[in-house]
Amino acid sequence: MRIIMLGAPGAGKGTQAKLISERYGIPHISTGDIFRSNIKNGTELGKKAKTYMDQGQLVPDELTCDLVVDRIAQDDAKDGYVLDGFPRTIPQAEALKHALEGRGESVDFAIDVDVPDENIIKRMSGRRACVSCGATYHVVYNPPKKEGVCDVCGSGLILRDDDKPETVKKRLDVYHSQTQPLIDYYQKDGVLKEVDGTQEIDTIFSQIQKLLG
Ligand code: ADP
Ligand code: ADP
Ligand code: ZN
Repeated sequence: MRIIMLGAPGAGKGTQAKLISERYGIPHISTGDIFRSNIKNGTELGKKAKTYMDQGQLVPDELTCDLVVDRIAQDDAKDGYVLDGFPRTIPQAEALKHALEGRGESVDFAIDVDVPDENIIKRMSGRRACVSCGATYHVVYNPPKKEGVCDVCGSGLILRDDDKPETVKKRLDVYHSQTQPLIDYYQKDGVLKEVDGTQEIDTIFSQIQKLLG
């Protein structure tokens, strides 16, 4: 099953992608996590990506598309995957379509997690992210068992630099201008599914499971 998560920054794409990944036994591929791990390891890609990420801008398509196309060609992705944070622009969606067509494949589901902007700022200030495995928590809505510690891997939790309100506002603008058009794009392809992302995490996940059949 090849699944794409769509939605604003902070809509809960990562949270749902992790649950889908566990339930269906397919890898969770997050471009944000890939960039952050490159930044942590001080790679060339990480250095380039950081300048954009810190400003709430998108990393250019040239640095993003090949990376994903290579990642989904790996062995663990042969039966499917859940892509979280990619595609984010029409050219990225086209690059993905071409790469898949070359193998006689296509996207099965694009799940749009819909959350209005008003809710997003509140969510982001409470988001805490694991420094090693990418799991995310929320201080109120989804706290870890032990404060400041990841349930999954035991590493420390941080407030991401780009989750401060000014950067979140910028990211929301970028989302509306560059990423939201993908909703129409996948609607036309006949693979779009929508869920109301303002509900409880578990409620959203049961609805997604029904949509996936
Ligand atoms: P969120 O889950 O809050 O939307 P991500 O972890 O997906 O955040 O992304 C963080 C940042 O990484 C983005 O603001 C952007 O700068 C960069 N990024 C992630 N994925 C992409 C992508 N597909 N194209 C361009 N930039 C990306
Ligand atoms: P995205 O990957 O779309 O940027 P995340 O999955 O990281 O979003 O979620 C953003 C923040 O909101 C996190 O702190 C997360 O714990 C919290 N969150 C996720 N889903 C919900 C929900 N349904 N209700 C309330 N908070 C949520
Ligand atoms: Zn962790």
